[in-house]
Amino acid sequence: MTQQLTGIYWLTGLSGAGKTTLTLGAADLLRAQGHPCLVLDGDIMRAGLSSDLGFSPEDRRENLRRAGEVARLVAQQGQVCLCAFITPYQATRNALRQRLGPLYREIFVSCPLESCVSRDPKGNYARARREGRTDYTGIGAPYETPDAPDVRVETNTSGIDDCVRTIVQFIYDSQPPRQGDR
Ligand code: ADP
Repeated sequence: MTQQLTGIYWLTGLSGAGKTTLTLGAADLLRAQGHPCLVLDGDIMRAGLSSDLGFSPEDRRENLRRAGEVARLVAQQGQVCLCAFITPYQATRNALRQRLGPLYREIFVSCPLESCVSRDPKGNYARARREGRTDYTGIGAPYETPDAPDVRVETNTSGIDDCVRTIVQFIYDSQPPRQGDR
């Protein structure tokens, strides 16, 4: 029988760094290898589960808390949950790690801000500039580089396929202890 994979793989990084691309790519590869998985990102959360929330600091925290709880349910039921959220603050990431315990693994999707801004796949930086938003991560608000991510991929020097393979290999190599394991 193939090994059943589980766990919460939380991709953090600037907008445009590649989180969505890599979660979707990793999910495709895992499914092709027989491992069901769920993908969560900001758009998915805000379309439904968090449609009552805005963008105040409290609402952003609550959105991530909900995402973490959904991810926990998925992982506890024996599937991989891939989460793509900017998650710019170390304190928020620490809180997730504390709440989700050994199920939580952090993947830093690293890319220089200039590359993210020139990619701008969703037009987020252009929109923020147009609207004079001073609170957008990378423009007016900081992205705090993760202190100790479990793994890091560099998307301006490695191609998409290489980054996806690194993430999927990491998922195999970092399976949380199962109940009954010593
Ligand atoms: P995010 O979800 O972090 O905002 P996206 O995945 O939406 O970022 O966009 C990343 C963009 O960068 C895409 O247009 C993607 O094709 C491109 N890209 C180039 N190289 C890579 C790489 N190695 N990994 C991921 N994305 C990459």
